[in-house]
Amino acid sequence: MMNYRITLLPGDGIGPEIMAVAVDVLKVVGNQFNLNFEFQEAPIGGVAIDATGEPLPGQTLEMCRNSDAVLLAAIGGYKWDNLPRHQRPETGLLGLRAGLGLFANLRPAKILPQLIDASSLKRDIVEGVDIMVVRELTGGVYFGTPKGVFETETGEKRGVNTMAYTESEIDRIAKVGFETAQKRGGKLCSVDKANVLEVSQLWRDRVTLLAPEYPDVELSHLYVDNAAMQLVRWPKQFDTIVTGNLFGDILSDAAAMLTGSIGMLPSASLGASGPGVFEPVHGSAPDIAGQDKANPLAQVLSAAMMLRYALEQPVAADKIEKAVLEVLEQGYRTGDIMSEGMKQVGCKEMAEVLLKVLSV
Ligand code: NAD
Repeated sequence: MMNYRITLLPGDGIGPEIMAVAVDVLKVVGNQFNLNFEFQEAPIGGVAIDATGEPLPGQTLEMCRNSDAVLLAAIGGYKWDNLPRHQRPETGLLGLRAGLGLFANLRPAKILPQLIDASSLKRDIVEGVDIMVVRELTGGVYFGTPKGVFETETGEKRGVNTMAYTESEIDRIAKVGFETAQKRGGKLCSVDKANVLEVSQLWRDRVTLLAPEYPDVELSHLYVDNAAMQLVRWPKQFDTIVTGNLFGDILSDAAAMLTGSIGMLPSASLGASGPGVFEPVHGSAPDIAGQDKANPLAQVLSAAMMLRYALEQPVAADKIEKAVLEVLEQGYRTGDIMSEGMKQVGCKEMAEVLLKVLSV
């Protein structure tokens, strides 16, 4: 029997609904594969603000540090949108990433054959798309200083953020990019804005410098505006993309939509050592929270990624991923991925059919 301590961060909005499904799924595969999960739950985001005044209480971060992996749902909601920035739910998420040293965010965007028609692009453009976006997570314009809203000499306000990367920050994320490409299709596209930004020129130079260490990886470079265009024009040209925090934030959402639904996409955030955080790409979907409409599959697939990347239980991960494909094959769809002729279900019913498939 293997024992794992997992910190659960359900967060806000649909978070608790979809987290409950992932926990049930983990319990079932745990029994089947002799894995004992010790779950401990902690507040983050809006619920943490309500309880403690802070979006990331010290105790939550401590519990995360003392676990084998962290499973996060989502944070945020209208209620907290107008608080000062340091008290916003998003600040908790940034603090968690920084506190655990999670500098690499892996976001797969893979077209599932059962969901091709849910994509807004034509079938022949998206069929077979399988992209991994490796996004830098703890640097760039989200963290660079100076930052803030300052008053100029004329009394006018001026908002400032700073996009900055050091050589070592670029090198470590580029390495993750190259290594990820090695495990996949052997193609790495580095995305920057080197024609305008100095920070991007340094990025491009460092990535290019590392390339000879990975002779089995074919490296290319794209400016971010072109990359955005190419993603919707002919996404199959991409295998692995490596990029900075801001560009990765935007491009991974664009890549997500190729697959039809943001409700299907998991992600992993990894550091140099210590526990990783596994979470859906989507947010807390406050517009459908508490209505049993949420698609729990991205959360479930995040749990599968956790088994694969953090706990080294690939067989259990495979079982979950296959079960997800099977329920789609059987025609079950939540509203966000609904198409003609399919059977629309809510979050709870999706969980029931998934657990049934997993139990056999
Ligand atoms: P969102 O991803 O929450 O929602 C975008 C749209 O997709 C909404 O229409 C929503 O109903 C739908 N959607 C998302 N997940 C779904 C699911 N599992 N099943 C069915 N439909 C789903 O993004 P948003 O509306 O821009 O942001 C809402 C809140 O979430 C904000 O407070 C934002 O800050 C926060 N947010 C959090 C994270 C995170 O926790 N990592 C990420 C993005 C946004």
